Amino acid sequence: MPFLILSDIHGNGDALRAVLEDAKGRYDQILSLGDLVGYGAEPNEVVNWVRENTAACIRGNHDRACTGLDSIEHYNPAARASAVWTQAALEPRNLEYLQRLPRGPLPVQSARGSFDLVHGSPLDEDDYLVTAADVSHIRSLLETQLSFFGHTHLQGGFLITRGGVQRIAPGRILELEPDHYYLVNPGSVGQPRDGDPRAAYALYSPEARVVEFRRADYDVAKAAARIREAGLPESLALRLHRGT
Ligand code: ZN
Repeated sequence: MPFLILSDIHGNGDALRAVLEDAKGRYDQILSLGDLVGYGAEPNEVVNWVRENTAACIRGNHDRACTGLDSIEHYNPAARASAVWTQAALEPRNLEYLQRLPRGPLPVQSARGSFDLVHGSPLDEDDYLVTAADVSHIRSLLETQLSFFGHTHLQGGFLITRGGVQRIAPGRILELEPDHYYLVNPGSVGQPRDGDPRAAYALYSPEARVVEFRRADYDVAKAAARIREAGLPESLALRLHRGT
């Protein structure tokens, strides 16, 4: 029973549709790691789709910020402008859905044991796990052998062994070893920040114990045009082209 794992869609319907086309026929259930909205110009399209199609979804910091659950004072000007725009654009039922999303870690059962969904880190939904040092700090506190996380918009993750923490490069296939711990990031569907503008996602097969990192080409110019037409900051359109 393979899972399609999506994170940080950020209101980018064009990227989401391309991912679904690319992954067609290759999964049974869809899981989301939060940040459905913020930055992109199609928040309602994304939330409508997530509401109807995902088996499990946790909240991200932008889902809180764009629905009034969190202060946006510490956000940069572009993120703040998009949070204000998104809150005004969201249909009431979508606003309510986002406000009610659970905080991670959220356990998901599979044929081969359970794994967790988290937005930032297993300890704090707002933590950024970017470097091996970030993971070393929380290593002894990890309770679950496999967690999927987002928030950094960087595809890959970390392998935690007795010897230490190693980065997992976003190669195509990751084979999970029984004795190790893993923090796996599918990358961002709607706003990649690893220099590759293609939409990022992952497929996880518990039976095969394999995570497949994937990228999907999509019409970046179209998504950028929607951002401009919505009157959102130009920087949000440009960064989609750069993938940063
Ligand atoms: Zn995000």
